[in-house]
Amino acid sequence: MKESILKRVEKPSRYVGGEYGVRKKSKADFNYCICFPDVYEVGMSNLSIRIVEEVISRVDGAVCDRCFAPWDDLGKELKKEGELLTSLDLKMPLKDFDMVGFTLQYEMSFTTILYMLDLAGIPLKREERGEDYPIIQAGGPCAVNPEPLADFIDLFVIGDGEDSMRELTELKLKLKGVSKSRFLIEASKIQGVYVPSLVEVKYKENGLIEGFSIKEPIKKALCADLDKAPFPPSQAVANCESVFDRAVIEVMRGCYRGCRFCQAGFIYRPVRARGVKTLTEQACSLIKNTGFDEVGLNSLSTGDYPNLKELIKELKENLPEDVSLALPSLRLDSFDGEFVQETRKSSLTFAPEAGTQRLRDVINKDITEEDVERGLNMAFDNGYTGIKLYFMFGLPTETDEDIIGICNIVDKIRKIYSANPQRARRLRISVSASTFIPKPFTPFQWERQIGEEEVSRKVELLRSRLFHKNTYLSWNDFALSQMEAVIARGDRKIGKVLQKAYEKGCYLDGWTDKFNPTLWNEAFLETGVDKEFYTRELGEDEILPWDFIDIFVDKKFLLNERKKAYSATVTGSCKSGCKGCGIQKVYGCNL
Ligand code: SF4
Repeated sequence: MKESILKRVEKPSRYVGGEYGVRKKSKADFNYCICFPDVYEVGMSNLSIRIVEEVISRVDGAVCDRCFAPWDDLGKELKKEGELLTSLDLKMPLKDFDMVGFTLQYEMSFTTILYMLDLAGIPLKREERGEDYPIIQAGGPCAVNPEPLADFIDLFVIGDGEDSMRELTELKLKLKGVSKSRFLIEASKIQGVYVPSLVEVKYKENGLIEGFSIKEPIKKALCADLDKAPFPPSQAVANCESVFDRAVIEVMRGCYRGCRFCQAGFIYRPVRARGVKTLTEQACSLIKNTGFDEVGLNSLSTGDYPNLKELIKELKENLPEDVSLALPSLRLDSFDGEFVQETRKSSLTFAPEAGTQRLRDVINKDITEEDVERGLNMAFDNGYTGIKLYFMFGLPTETDEDIIGICNIVDKIRKIYSANPQRARRLRISVSASTFIPKPFTPFQWERQIGEEEVSRKVELLRSRLFHKNTYLSWNDFALSQMEAVIARGDRKIGKVLQKAYEKGCYLDGWTDKFNPTLWNEAFLETGVDKEFYTRELGEDEILPWDFIDIFVDKKFLLNERKKAYSATVTGSCKSGCKGCGIQKVYGCNL
């Protein structure tokens, strides 16, 4: 990229690469580029792209480069100058790679994938790309419903990337020189690989799915033993401040709590924990190679890591004294004074999600009032003076009483705080509410999403009662949540909408100041696709767009969990014994 361009854009450090700790690279027999469809400072905090880079870099003859979405000032400059989007390390045009991969972390990043393909001079539609264009691949959490992107992506990797991306790389090297179609046929034999061009979807007149042309479902890829899995010994230290500026280890994959709205809680099963020895070695290596002064202990619910106390002890003994630990996802019921002392925070984040015990039972958020009280007292005794609470609007069976329940929780927290006169400082409480989004492969995948009017009424109900000073209320943009819901449960027809929306100027939609619902609505109108078709309640006997994918959790189990939700019956966590979700038939969970 011409230096002159860099002088005309914001934060040029996003585009120069050469970070401290970055891997030395040179062109190889197989050249792969992992793309993060959002800006550098967001992508640099993402662990999965670092794992993919490590997996591919360990294969002889392969290299893995990186590319992050340019902010729109650079996008416009590249177009103006007739320059193509290049990778960060080898500075190679994306179209010169053998394979270009996108990580799918968030549905609202899908238009940014089209933006990056366009800036790279790569035709958006897979049917329009001949042999002289790279294979476009995608993976990550949103790949469990790949259909909205089926028009644009040549192959998806569904599930874990550790084994599947290695096999894909080895196959590409082995079949060097064969045609793309031949390679895709061979690749489709790897567990977790889905090639849309090899699967036909039949639709009925009314838009519902009649069936898929494949007999056997696509089984997700699964890395059974995380202790043996490739993990990066170092990480590039970002050139500008990133969302999380710290070293990160993944202590566990999967969660056994089974909250009925949570997609991650089901698609990452079975629960697999890395050993204390492995994690200590990984953390020490990262700190030695990067100089970071903080290590994040990442997972869906780090407080549930089986040997957390032992791990914290080992890390404290083996890491330099000035290195602190961050425990990002602590639930209040697994809150422990010992953990508190280890972290540097003054504000606590807690996600009750629902305002009453009844509704928490409906969503299987197995937290009791006693848990709340015990956890809060511990936090306040350890100096916390701020608390952020997350709730959702529009959960199944929700009533106004549940919304008012949110105010009761806030009042209760204030009472708990002021019960101890030594807690002099005023307590700041932030309440953040988002609209519930029904996601594939959850017990709530069939639920309808509430409309804008209902959300506004609930916001008013809450705002009119949360008038205590030092309590701050915020809520998500409804239109953004609705679009996320449409794409999350979309079928192949959504591809037309994504392309139209991009052509109208929609990309970087994850940024609220970039998201333009008017243009999106025009895209639906002009493609004749009905949004409400994707936010309605789905029939339990309907064929769902993702039904040809098997994540090893039985649909029967999800249906049964939905039924239990409607009677506010808790299933509880797997720690109290296996609940038979289906995974047990193929893999064991280490609990
Ligand atoms: S197999 Fe059993 S223990 Fe494992 S996640 Fe499923 S229900 Fe829980």
